[in-house]
Amino acid sequence: MALPSNPRVGLVGWRGMVGSVLMQRMEAEGDFAHIEPVFFSTSSAGGELPAAIARFAKNERKLQAASDLKALAACDIVITAQGSDFTNEAYGPLRASGWKGYWIDAAKTLRMSDDAVIVLDPVNLPVIRNALAKGIKDYIGGNCTVSCMLMGLGALFKADLVEWMAATTYQAASGGGAQHMRELLAQMGTLNGSVKALLADPASAILEIDRRIASTQRGLSAEETKNFMVPLAGSLIPWIDADRGDGTSLEEWKGGAETNKILGRGPGFGTPGAGPGSVVAAIPIDSICVRVGAMRCHSQSVTIKLKKDVPLQEIEQMIARDNEWVRLVPNNREATLRELTPVAVTGTMQIPVGRVRKLALGPSYLGAFTIGDQLLWGAAEPLRRMLRILLSQ
Ligand code: NAP
Repeated sequence: MALPSNPRVGLVGWRGMVGSVLMQRMEAEGDFAHIEPVFFSTSSAGGELPAAIARFAKNERKLQAASDLKALAACDIVITAQGSDFTNEAYGPLRASGWKGYWIDAAKTLRMSDDAVIVLDPVNLPVIRNALAKGIKDYIGGNCTVSCMLMGLGALFKADLVEWMAATTYQAASGGGAQHMRELLAQMGTLNGSVKALLADPASAILEIDRRIASTQRGLSAEETKNFMVPLAGSLIPWIDADRGDGTSLEEWKGGAETNKILGRGPGFGTPGAGPGSVVAAIPIDSICVRVGAMRCHSQSVTIKLKKDVPLQEIEQMIARDNEWVRLVPNNREATLRELTPVAVTGTMQIPVGRVRKLALGPSYLGAFTIGDQLLWGAAEPLRRMLRILLSQ
């Protein structure tokens, strides 16, 4: 579908955590210059645009109701970071009304639908182009952990070097949303408060501090653990998202399913170049996903079984040259402490990959550690880049 110049782009969820980062990135990259933005709200439709977004507006200066199907249908493209509830409520009726526009979405709802592509263009531009040529209209942002991992290690997948991959993730509080970040910080404050006097006294016994902290953690109220359900500060939680009832969490399932779908591997994903009717086998990927007390960077430690023994230097070069955001961190203590921590990466577009080494398991076993800001490459950035791909058609 040819888009008009300055197409109407409906923006839903612009005030949430992902949406705010999306607005920041769209402003930084000058995206608003190419579109007529139409802002939607589920909570304050009808009002003037708030100051945070008023400067992006052109002709449309009122907040539209996100429940107004006609207003949504008047858009050539809808970008939503509103969440699954909105997608569940609006998407079906909008398509049923005959709307043929492009739907770009951060929520998980449509990711595995046959008619949708998971977008991460530095990794899967051929899959996206193939889908556009076929007339596919739904382009969905991937799971944050998957997107950040593929931005770092995509080169090995593109070269078809990965036989299987196992990961342990270290996922930030922000993956749960703004309230989760606040809860983590509140818990940190409570813990600190419980031992403040002892900390100020250099002669105090560390075991007494430790005992009080454990007691405070175990005594946190239901209100203080409302979002994570158990203490996260000074602890970790080795389960993220729903229980699938087969010993895996939904987050762990997404790691395998979404990575393969992004790469266009497995039945039904139509990898370009695979030949008519042929299917490129899915790569077995498994993980244990762990919530840790980081703010907004997801990290993961991976073990990769390579299909063949490739020299380490060659692997490092492939990773480093894959895209303009990946950074190969030398596998030594100094560089790791300086460049390979969530604090070093937060708020940046960089995806460092470090601790790259052959494992004692054998020459075709590779270890690596990657980090990414999960609100940037893990959420907002693939959405705005998809918009630019549509605008450049
Ligand atoms: P969020 O911060 O909860 O925002 C979603 C909506 O909540 C907002 O658009 C806003 O809608 C409403 N809201 C109510 N009270 C608010 C307040 N005090 N401040 C801001 N907004 C408020 O959700 P999110 O974390 O951005 O996630 C949005 C979608 O992206 C979800 O589907 C999520 O699964 C997906 N996603 C999230 C991440 C992540 O890291 N969090 C990563 C990848 C994908 P109104 O303005 O209409 O009231």
